[in-house]
Amino acid sequence: MKLRSTETFWPLISAMNISYPSIDSDITTEILIIGGGITGALTAYKLINEGKKVALVDRRDVCNGSTAASTALLQYEVDIPLHELIKIRGEKCAVDSFKNGKKAIFDIRQIIDDIKSDCGFEFKKSIYFTSYKKDIPLLKNEFKTRKQHLFDVSWLNKYELEKLGLKAIAAIESKTAAVMDPYRLANDLLKYCQDKGMQIYDRTNVTSIQTQKGKCIAHTENKFTITAEHVIHCTGYESTETLEEKVVDLKSTYAIASESLTEIPDILKNAVIWDTSSPYFYYRATPDNRIIMGGGDEDFVDAKKRDKLIPKKEVFLMRQFKRRFPDFAFKLDYSWAGTFGETKDGLPYFGKPNPKKNEHYLLGFGGNGITFSVMGINSIMDSINNKRDLDLEYYRFDR
Ligand SMILES: Cc1cc2nc3c(=O)[nH]c(=O)nc-3n(C[C@H](O)[C@H](O)[C@H](O)COP(=O)(O)OP(=O)(O)OC[C@H]3O[C@@H](n4cnc5c(N)ncnc54)[C@H](O)[C@@H]3O)c2cc1C
Repeated sequence: MKLRSTETFWPLISAMNISYPSIDSDITTEILIIGGGITGALTAYKLINEGKKVALVDRRDVCNGSTAASTALLQYEVDIPLHELIKIRGEKCAVDSFKNGKKAIFDIRQIIDDIKSDCGFEFKKSIYFTSYKKDIPLLKNEFKTRKQHLFDVSWLNKYELEKLGLKAIAAIESKTAAVMDPYRLANDLLKYCQDKGMQIYDRTNVTSIQTQKGKCIAHTENKFTITAEHVIHCTGYESTETLEEKVVDLKSTYAIASESLTEIPDILKNAVIWDTSSPYFYYRATPDNRIIMGGGDEDFVDAKKRDKLIPKKEVFLMRQFKRRFPDFAFKLDYSWAGTFGETKDGLPYFGKPNPKKNEHYLLGFGGNGITFSVMGINSIMDSINNKRDLDLEYYRFDR
């Protein structure tokens, strides 16, 4: 018997930190942020601390888009290996992008300390491994390139990996990575900004934006307007609704979480790990000793079709786990699916697609979505202030 549909009021309301009202009058502000996920929350934090007058709206309850689905491995390695990214975007942009990601991990730690968020942030190593002989040349090339550009990496062989509990044949270990709970952090950031005077409206859908006499006028579905000097779109994968150009290939992705285990593989105590498969599999642990793993991407976004596959993907991912960790049992507790997107060069998009409009975008697409969002908050500030910024060049729309 199916006693109820998937989401009901009481469990949801007790899991929610705080809920915000929907908009019920026309308002005027200096900056409007559309989207209350981790990107909107980080952007709001930056702007509020710069003394700006900010309003933020979200069409759902805040933090219930991709941020609620994220597995939140924070890595500086982008989805495309450095040696390949150099070929696509040139040495300076590729190496700077890796360095920017590394800095973003320390920056987010500072933000978390500043607002005293209890979001389970922990520094980890990042281990990029292979289980296939055919991928050894790729891994070696990547190791050499990262060393050459002074990234702090070591090579791990089969025996070292097996000692750590992972069945694989070689890996690159990077010293800087982290994990956290992104839903908690985004909620804590929004609360911090509200306490500092930011207006937040959830269940408020922006349906169109007009430019009139240099101002942006956003229209909401319930027929109110928000007038602002600047609009920042932090709308994640739903930005495809408002962008004219196609900048991202959308897919479906899957994740599973185990029960709290008495023992987890040593490698997951200190590291997040991911492999050379395409699409790749990735694994992390939580502070309460659960293992989260993900992968199994599919090239479609239809939500019904995607969610129907969840039971099959559970079996698929658990089989993959068993192959890598034959000595550990993965006791499944949760599974979920989400929309995910990849850009051609694995890098984000920051800035104004149309220079004539004061509409800015901060789109941290891909497996590094969160670190990209941290990187983007300074660039968005520069975009608003019309200041030159190298990242606005690297990650511009017409690249
Ligand atoms: C399964 C999965 C695993 C992932 N793992 C990682 C990982 O390990 N590491 C990592 O860095 N990233 C990961 N990501 C990506 C990461 O989660 C995203 O990049 C990040 O959450 C995006 O945050 P966001 O705030 O930009 O988007 P969202 O959280 O989707 O927020 C955007 C918000 O905009 C609102 N919105 C959209 N349009 C409108 C409108 N017109 N009016 C009002 N509101 C609107 C939406 O309701 C939504 O709440 C993963 C994603 C998934 C799905």
